[in-house]
Amino acid sequence: MNVLVINAGSSSLKYQLLDVDTREVYAKGNCERIGIEGSFIGHEENGSGKQKLEVALPDHKTAIDHVFEILENVPQKVDGIGHRVVQGGWYFPESAIVDEDVLAKVREVAPLAPLHNYAEADVVEICRNKFPELGNVIVPDTAFHYNMPEYAWRYALPRDVCDKLHIRKYGAHGTSHRYIWRATKQFLGDDVHKLVSLHLGSGASLCAIEDGRCKDTTMGLTPLDGLIMGTRCGTVDPATVFFLSREGGYSIDEIDTMMNKQSGLLAVSAKSNDSRDIEDGAAEGDEKCQMALDMFYYRTAQLTAEMVCSMEGVDTMVFTAGIGENSDVMRQGVMDRLAWLGIKIDPAKNAVRSDEPRVISTDDSAIKVLVVPTNEEYMIALDVAELLSK
Ligand code: AMP
Repeated sequence: MNVLVINAGSSSLKYQLLDVDTREVYAKGNCERIGIEGSFIGHEENGSGKQKLEVALPDHKTAIDHVFEILENVPQKVDGIGHRVVQGGWYFPESAIVDEDVLAKVREVAPLAPLHNYAEADVVEICRNKFPELGNVIVPDTAFHYNMPEYAWRYALPRDVCDKLHIRKYGAHGTSHRYIWRATKQFLGDDVHKLVSLHLGSGASLCAIEDGRCKDTTMGLTPLDGLIMGTRCGTVDPATVFFLSREGGYSIDEIDTMMNKQSGLLAVSAKSNDSRDIEDGAAEGDEKCQMALDMFYYRTAQLTAEMVCSMEGVDTMVFTAGIGENSDVMRQGVMDRLAWLGIKIDPAKNAVRSDEPRVISTDDSAIKVLVVPTNEEYMIALDVAELLSK
């Protein structure tokens, strides 16, 4: 079955056409700067090089029209469409075939992720109208975390307020964490029961997964919580918000922008939100870059131990996403701070660069540590194939 996976953001739209059975990617691309001057589509087909198509993309509808026009030249036909949805809110413990009710619910929960859900719902609707014969499936990024224990997802705030506003820990990156569980299980077999998934990219979160079920995760009501990220501060004392407002005179919107876009590795390093620049800076003796790394290692190790506590044990840890898959320095930095758990990293294995799952711990390490490249598109396509073939 050939599935078109669509990941719509507020001003971008990524797509990928892949065969679920062979995992072959026939075409993929990204519509950039939708609704902004200078829009373009970066498109790649059957292993050929990337083309840049400069086209006006005033809205998502035009972007989708262009994507389908481009895909008409691809010999493989689309059998179903999968849509990544950032926030499934209080409705979706799993992926769902789209009907009017599902679409209304994606919009109803949108205030929890306004920059994403409205655009995603619009794109789902456009696809349904354009190709009524094709099945559309939504794959919420929160679904995997939906059934974590109540003591993990509930906030110690007044119940009536939480109930009325649906405030709880929702988490994110659920599709990636679910894929990591699946791929690790396939790679290691029955030895995996308690796994910490470390999704470390420009956004970063950890997930405690016990026998395939989420026990806890580090992101919260929104993806701002938890780890220090590229431009996000992660967990800070919530009273920092009141203090910034009362003493600093910042508006709520300014604090929102500050914490989401101007904080994290970017703020501490005073150099970049990209870990590669920070590693280079630290290697050249830049103290702020070194502090950014030290804080990242410290917080990531600390919250990894929290995830271990959620499962009362651990046998496997898996690094994934941009930093997790590519930076041996940062993997080592985090794992060094967990050596007290009996973790031993083999530097030679850690230095290997590959697109395949691999173990980077020594044979006598108390916990197996792996690098597993994530593949959210494939996970989404699998859900589409499973739901549409029922
Ligand atoms: P992601 O959000 O998963 O795409 O991760 C992107 C982040 O991964 C970048 O901002 C970098 O900080 C980090 N990164 C480190 N090494 C690499 C690399 N070789 N390729 C891509 N991203 C990298």
